[in-house]
Amino acid sequence: MDPLIRVEGLKKLFPVRKGLLSMIFSRKAEYVHAVDGVSFTISKGEIFGLAGESGCGKTTTGRLLLRLVEPTEGSVYFEGEDIFSLSGRELMRKRREMQMIFQDPYKSLDPKKTVKDIINEPLSIHKIGKNRREKLEIIYEMLEAVKLTPPEDYLFKYPHELSGGERQRVAIARAIILKPKFIVADEPVSMLDVSIRASILDLMIELKDKFNLTYLYITHDLSVASYLCNKLAIMYLGKLVELGATLDLVKDPLHPYTKMLISAVPVPDPTYKREEIRIRGEVGNPINPPPGCRFHPRCPFATDKCREIEPDFNEVKDGHFVACHLFQS
Ligand code: SF4
Repeated sequence: MDPLIRVEGLKKLFPVRKGLLSMIFSRKAEYVHAVDGVSFTISKGEIFGLAGESGCGKTTTGRLLLRLVEPTEGSVYFEGEDIFSLSGRELMRKRREMQMIFQDPYKSLDPKKTVKDIINEPLSIHKIGKNRREKLEIIYEMLEAVKLTPPEDYLFKYPHELSGGERQRVAIARAIILKPKFIVADEPVSMLDVSIRASILDLMIELKDKFNLTYLYITHDLSVASYLCNKLAIMYLGKLVELGATLDLVKDPLHPYTKMLISAVPVPDPTYKREEIRIRGEVGNPINPPPGCRFHPRCPFATDKCREIEPDFNEVKDGHFVACHLFQS
């Protein structure tokens, strides 16, 4: 498959704001290492999952890919074009092709606007539709695509008059109305009732096929990732630790952190036995990440080498990458 997005050595460090006393006693600038040198490729038509615990840098990675934040280092190529080199009209043109669905439909929709105004906003910004009638036709088409039908029942409703699932459908309609090629979906079902999550995920799959979309799907939930994603990358403290085809990664995880995440996913079959990995402690501090392998303070297999030397992110099987000394000579 052709690559749509190529990420190379992407880094984002956020400066830590200090109080007056800390500034007097420590002159050294400190940074949150939100994303610390990640590289990967997303192919056209793929649903690429990015998973990890909260605070691991996955949302910042998604925002960097859409250039909603500027990087400290690194490049993101969209169809071969470095998005960080664009400005003005070129950037505006590219932005049409890349959209985001946010985690919280309660916050991402303006409570003072009707559904029609919310969905119309991208059309107005990008000057699409010759007149009101043509714009309304596009809005109708989008409401039908996200299964808010009949559209006239929804056009003049406000977000507070909709259920959580309906609100997320409006947010999806707004994201696809410009017919983008690439969508970053940041935990789009995590705030929704469990009973409606599957219908939103199925809708996303249907829209991907209908509009030739490619997704970066950000999640902390590996059961959702394995349902939806063709490829999966696991992130820990700003770095990728494992990447591969979702089935390979879920059936045969290699990195101890991935094994830990997978062993926490409930299996409906009580007779099924799998390797349990018990991990100590909490996610480390992104301001002062541990030296060597960032996972070493929690890893039951850590050795002196792990505490000193950072493992490379190597391909250990066809298309399956892992950053762990257990898989390096
Ligand atoms: Fe554990 Fe060492 Fe592998 Fe890191 S490199 S995951 S500490 S075994």
